[in-house]
Amino acid sequence: MRATPEGRVKERQRKLRYDRKRGVKPRVRLTPEQRREKRRTDRRHWKLKRRGVPGKHTVAELRARYAEQEGRCFWCREALSDDYHRDHVIPVSKGGTNDIRNIVLACAPCNVRKSDTHPLELLLA
Ligand SMILES: [Zn+2]
Repeated sequence: MRATPEGRVKERQRKLRYDRKRGVKPRVRLTPEQRREKRRTDRRHWKLKRRGVPGKHTVAELRARYAEQEGRCFWCREALSDDYHRDHVIPVSKGGTNDIRNIVLACAPCNVRKSDTHPLELLLA
């Protein structure tokens, strides 16, 4: 039997009915912006995992952090643009983890300036 467009639609409706009956949650549709964010997070986790960095944070946690910081850079309080950086407070190179507790959102200049300096070094400088 050849799959006709109508057949495919029917098949999909049948699957949706089946899922609903069994209380399966429909897959969450992400907006393009959320997808981009997720891709960035996933890629980062993959890279850090390969380097053996423990800890993990979710997009939801990042959003909460963003709200907490009222959309401003953690260091200079400038309003963050869309391409804010995730800054490890304790640099990964100095034993910091990728857990949300070690992540703040920073503007690009601050993150680059801080580089892998330990926050205590910044205070003592
Ligand atoms: Zn800044």
